Order: sequence, then C-alpha cells, then structure tokens
Amino acid sequence: MSKPVVAIVGRPNVGKSTLFNVLAGDNIAIVKDTPGVTRDRIYADVNWLDYHFTLIDTGGIEPESKDIILSQMREQAQIAIDTADVIIFLTDVRQGLVDADAKVADMLRRSHKPVVLAVNKVDNFDKFLPDVYEFYNLGIGEPMPVSGASRLGIGDMLDAVVEHFTPEQLEQEEDERPRIAIVGKPNVGKSSLINKLLGEKRLLVSDIAGTTRDAVDTEVTWEGKPYVFIDTAGLRRKNKIKEELERYSIIRAVTAVERADVVILVIDATEGVTEQDAKIAGIAHERGKGIIIAVNKWDAVEKTDKTIYEYTNRIREVLAFMSYAEILFISAQTGQRLPKLFEMIDVVIENHSLRVSTGVLNEIMTEAVALQQPPSDKGKRLKLYYMTQVSVKPPTFVIFVNDKELMHFSYQRYLENKIREAFGFRGTSLKFFIRERK
Ligand code: GDP
Ligand code: GDP
Repeated sequence: MSKPVVAIVGRPNVGKSTLFNVLAGDNIAIVKDTPGVTRDRIYADVNWLDYHFTLIDTGGIEPESKDIILSQMREQAQIAIDTADVIIFLTDVRQGLVDADAKVADMLRRSHKPVVLAVNKVDNFDKFLPDVYEFYNLGIGEPMPVSGASRLGIGDMLDAVVEHFTPEQLEQEEDERPRIAIVGKPNVGKSSLINKLLGEKRLLVSDIAGTTRDAVDTEVTWEGKPYVFIDTAGLRRKNKIKEELERYSIIRAVTAVERADVVILVIDATEGVTEQDAKIAGIAHERGKGIIIAVNKWDAVEKTDKTIYEYTNRIREVLAFMSYAEILFISAQTGQRLPKLFEMIDVVIENHSLRVSTGVLNEIMTEAVALQQPPSDKGKRLKLYYMTQVSVKPPTFVIFVNDKELMHFSYQRYLENKIREAFGFRGTSLKFFIRERK
C-alpha cells in the first residue's frame, strides 16, 4: 500500500514543529528499544478520519541570517516538492506576509504540487481574521486560518489536505511486482548501485511515470522477472547538497521505504556501520519491511579470512534490533554479488508474505511450551491457548493467553525463535499481538 506523504514547509518560527506535534499526536515515529537511535521528530504517521498519511517536517535548522533563511527555505521547499503528495505551506499572521513567503510560494506554484496555504497563530478568529486575507496575494489559493497552539482550524485544514489525495494513493496497490527501495547515508554508493543495475546488459530498463511525486520508479528485469526500484530517478539525479543534511536523507528514506516491500540498506564497508545507518535502518524496521543490508565497496576493503565474520558481528551488534536482516557483501563498482542480491530479494519477498497454517503453528507452540515452561507471577502461570497468523507483510501473529500481563518479552522472543527455527523468515520482522481469552 502506498500511503500519501504530506510535508510542512515554512519559515523558522511560524509554528511548524508545534503544528507537527499537534497533527502527529502520539504517533510520532520513533524506534523503541533501539540504543543509539535518537527520537527524531522528522516524520509521523497521521490518521485523520479514515485517512492515513505520513507527515514530514522539512524544517528543523535554525538559520542565522536572512540570506540563509531564503536559501534554506528553497531547499526545504524542493525536498517537499520532490517527496510529498501534498504540501502544507505554513505562514504566520503575526509576522504578516514577508518576501521569503512570496518567493517560496512562487516555487510551489511552479511545481504544480497541491498546496494548502495555512496561516498560523490565528488564536482568535475575530481579532486576526482580517489579516488573513492579505495572504491571498501569494497566489496559491485560499489562506486557511489555523492555530497550532490553540488547535483551531486544524480540522478544516486537514479536510483541504486529504481532498488532494488521489484514488490511486488511497487504494491498495494491485501491482504484483516486487518494490524495492535503496536507502542509506550519503556517499555509501546508492546511486552507483542503481546505475550498475541499470547498466548491466542483462537488464531491461524502462521508466515508469505514474506517481504524482517527481520520483520516477524504474523497472528492472532480471532473469525474465520485473522488479520496481523506487525513487531511483532521485538517486540518479543526485542531490548531494541536500543529502548532506542528515534530516533530508532521513526524509528521502522515509518516503521511499513507505512504498517498498523490500528495503536495501546500503552501508559503506570502508567506514563500517554507524549510528546514522542505525537510524535509517530503524525506519524500515518499524514499518515492518523486508530488509537486506548491503555492505558496499567490498572491493576496497583489505580482507583476511576473518573479515566477513568481524563485519557481520559488528553489524549485528549495532543493528541488534533487526537480527533477522539478511547481510550481503557487494561492490557496486565491480558488480560483485549483484546476482546474489536479486536472489536474496526473491527470498525476502517470499518470506515477507509467507503464511503458516494455524495447525502447524500450534504444533510448534505446544512443543515450545513443553520444552520451556511459560513464566509465572505470584503463583499464576501463563497459559497459551493457541496461536494464529492474521496477516502478512510483515507476518503477524496473535497469541491467545489467559493473562497477557504474564507474557514476558523474553518468552515472546523464545516463541519467535522457535517459529524462525521452523520457517526461517529470513529478512523479515515478525509481529506479535497477545490477546486474552477468558
Ligand atoms: P518552527 O520554527 O516553524 O518549527 O516554529 P515552532 O513550532 O517552534 O514555534 C515558534 C514559536 O511560535 C514558538 O514560540 C511557539 O510557541 C509559537 N507558536 C506556534 N504555534 C502558535 C500558535 O498557533 N499561536 C501562537 N500565538 N504562537 C504559536
Ligand atoms: P550515494 O551518495 O549513496 O548515492 O553514493 P555514490 O553512488 O555517489 O558513491 C559515493 C562514492 O563512493 C563515489 O565516489 C563512488 O565512486 C564510490 N563507490 C560507490 N560504490 C563503490 C564500490 O562498490 N567500491 C568502491 N571502491 N567505491 C564505490
């Protein structure tokens, strides 16, 4: 499913973060239990009525001089234009209309992206409404008065936002072709990898327009089978300046990961795995995507017979929250193991949508319980009644028990390991819900 992406753009201090927090509510995407992964408020999953979308805040830098403000706003606006389906352009009724607003409005207008113009800090409609009309002069439509701080006008603004969602964005995708996102920090070799894949003689390439985003998906045929690589145009186009900012590489990753079945996280072997890699990995993890860690530039590493082992251990340590991820050592430059990469994509796709019958699951559960007694507390022991798989992508299981307070994380992990022993599920996370049955 492809969730629409909505971006907030605006000058510093107009209230972007405040509005972001109001819209995100408790849904700020954070990676829990993940050491070293900070809680960035860059993106969040928002639910409004029956609509679900990903909200991104393109701001977050505090420029000092006016010149810098304008150039950074242009960058922000460009990011929003590249990645979002709808843009909320936030202005400030108290500061009034300023020159930078007009320049950004021009950019947004030329992009032909749907824009909702919101005028913030209208805490009192009677008092400030007359000042709102001035913003008609931006020429990007009707200004909507809102107050992030007082939570006024938010519903009307969101109505205007979701009105721009197209039926395709809201529907389940029927497309059966595997969708793959290549993500990673700047300079790890993402563009080199995609270019290599496109350059291989055995590949047939065609660009698929058809998303409202400027991102152009690319179909690659490998051994007769089609694969869709997401946002590869953005990668090929190169956007170094923007990518240098960590925030922007995260925004890029979020919007690509959202639409993917499998995520290839590219890591630079010459540098080793870093915290920023962990942050980007966390995005794919919390969205339950299939994951392959591609350790690139393997050609440039001096190797002994222990090198692969050492790298694998280090990655498992830093990315401990995704021990299920596949790891592959590649070179985008020489093409080393790229055929293996496609094999792995196939396996991960299969695992990501694998279904296990309730009968077999319960055999595994019964055996697991016999081998290791479930935990107990104050004389009451956890009883497991049965387990069933309720969905795929990622595989999701419900375990029915007598008292869910008694289910420890460690025991759940034990059951997960038993399921993995039986079915592998390499490359995909598994989700568990514990329900009580009286
Ligand atoms: P950002 O730089 O655009 O992210 O702006 P912030 O969200 O950090 O807000 C900047 C300042 O404006 C803060 O002091 C907020 O408290 C204030 N602010 C934000 N929204 C409102 C609002 O709706 N009304 C008023 N009066 N102040 C607001
Ligand atoms: P991106 O920012 O992630 O798209 O990274 P690029 O594809 O632009 O690559 C960054 C740098 O790493 C460039 O100088 C590439 O030539 C180099 N590079 C990429 N892949 C490899 C590789 O497999 N081996 C070596 N030795 N260098 C590579």
